[in-house]
Amino acid sequence: MLEYKLSDRKKYFVKVDKWYPSSQICHCCGYRNPLLKDLRIREWDCPNCNHHHKRDVNAAINIRNEGLRILKESA
Ligand SMILES: [Zn+2]
Repeated sequence: MLEYKLSDRKKYFVKVDKWYPSSQICHCCGYRNPLLKDLRIREWDCPNCNHHHKRDVNAAINIRNEGLRILKESA
């Protein structure tokens, strides 16, 4: 249903692997922080680039980036 609605509006539907660790990866530098497996951590600072992250915002950006990467690969 979602796929159909999006193609109707000339938008793309890309599935991102459900094991893609979107909330563990710093969207600025790509550093992966395994401590983020703990769902109680809502905000964190990247130990590599010091960027302050809100968990869900960072995850959303990573999912968008991963979707764009997959799209590019399949083009
Ligand atoms: Zn970082």
